[in-house]
Amino acid sequence: MKTPMSDALAPGDVPGFPCPNCKDFRIKLSLREVLYGREAQCGKCGLTLSIDRSNAGKLMSLLQDVYVAEQNVSAFQKK
Ligand SMILES: [Zn+2]
Repeated sequence: MKTPMSDALAPGDVPGFPCPNCKDFRIKLSLREVLYGREAQCGKCGLTLSIDRSNAGKLMSLLQDVYVAEQNVSAFQKK
């Protein structure tokens, strides 16, 4: 365990979102899981969140923007 937690949880590097229960712990999800999955579980407290796109419009639109950007980068790198 030589990797500092602060490095593992560096903002911007970890896909996911802060756990509403733990606050400072990010629930890690791939964008694909967020967009197409139904549940997310916090790795720290075990809180299970249902992903309901109808109730998370702002978050989902933000994540979709990131997802699309990622797709664009992937397409660019293939050339
Ligand atoms: Zn948690």
